[in-house]
Amino acid sequence: MTKTLAVLGSTGSIGVQALEVAELMGFEVVALTANSRVDIIEEQIRKFSPRIAAVADEKAASELKIKVADTSTKVLSGARGVEECARCGADTVLNSIVGIAGLAPTLAAIECGSNIALANKETLVAGGKIVMNAAEEKGVAILPVDSEHSAIFQSLQGCRGKNQIKRLILTASGGPFFGKSRDYLETVTLEQALKHPNWSMGAKITIDSATMMNKGLELIEAAWLFGMKAADIDIVVHRQSIVHSLVEYVDNSVIAQLGLPDMRIPIQYALTYPDRFVSPVSQLDLAKAATLTFEKPDYETFACINHCRRAFEEGGLYPAAVNAANEKANELFRNGKIRFLDIPKAVEAAFDCVKSVSHHTLEDVFETDKLVRKETERLFV
Ligand code: NAD
Ligand code: MG
Repeated sequence: MTKTLAVLGSTGSIGVQALEVAELMGFEVVALTANSRVDIIEEQIRKFSPRIAAVADEKAASELKIKVADTSTKVLSGARGVEECARCGADTVLNSIVGIAGLAPTLAAIECGSNIALANKETLVAGGKIVMNAAEEKGVAILPVDSEHSAIFQSLQGCRGKNQIKRLILTASGGPFFGKSRDYLETVTLEQALKHPNWSMGAKITIDSATMMNKGLELIEAAWLFGMKAADIDIVVHRQSIVHSLVEYVDNSVIAQLGLPDMRIPIQYALTYPDRFVSPVSQLDLAKAATLTFEKPDYETFACINHCRRAFEEGGLYPAAVNAANEKANELFRNGKIRFLDIPKAVEAAFDCVKSVSHHTLEDVFETDKLVRKETERLFV
């Protein structure tokens, strides 16, 4: 179990909740990182007194250095500073950075032998093979924070071997546009896309939920985490976000994890595994929840899911490419530069930007990421 903890991306939606869990559990927080939110990380430094902290944005880092000069926390800057925090040697490094910026820090933490509590799904989408190999080599655990993957992980406790698993079933809330037609999606606004029915999250993942790219990314994440073929991972829309995902065994028994939609449950489980502790999250009242519904996703309207499935099946650099196209398109949509339905188009276009390779390195992943982002901007803006 975790005693010392580093939180990368501590100022974000997951990061803030992770620190809430850390405080309740009495973990020693040894490192914190942020991109630019100096006000929030300053407050966190004063509360948790970490040994080191880093801010990716150089200017914001200089500001923070001055602000916390009276504390014992050493402040670092830039992507290198974030990586150094990942190398702090904590029992667990919780990575809640958004996007591919989380990949190098994940690898740095693995190299140092820290267990990883992973929220940053883009790490596994872009660098799945490299990350899983590194973790295996170092004997470190990658514990899922993503609610669906935590649910699967919990439903797999007691599983006697992979040959007993028939398939994984990921649940999807469907986001704000479930049941809508392509015509409707043509003109949706950023404001509409940011209204998630069940979860309050960072802007990027909220848009990913609206396009359902999030479920595609999660399919790839699950394939790597649990060593499954994409064909053995199904998706079912469950509007209430109470059943967080399921495992079907060979005897057709299905085991699921349920709970109110609150990320503090999966965060806490990743940090206390294999034990469970009392949590501040409210009890699930099934009679109050009353109705749990399950439906097939509309794969034509929400085409990103199939693009991700295809990318994982084709392998190599294709997952890194679809991730990069999505990150760029998601950002362009949030900045009002492209329309909502340009996002799935950009993700599909990414397949033409890369060649199939039999072996790839971390440098190839970063190069693909750069190239696809550039191409996405060229094609859609
Ligand atoms: P967020 O936008 O609220 O927070 C992101 C964090 O990353 C912030 O602390 C920010 O400072 C940091 N960051 C951003 N860019 C960075 C960079 N270039 N270098 C270093 N740090 C940087 O996002 P979030 O909703 O907390 O999501 C974080 C990750 O967790 C994402 O990968 C997301 O898919 C995943 N996730 C989130 C939720 C959720 O409920 N929010 C659930 C499951 C998975
Ligand atoms: Mg999720």
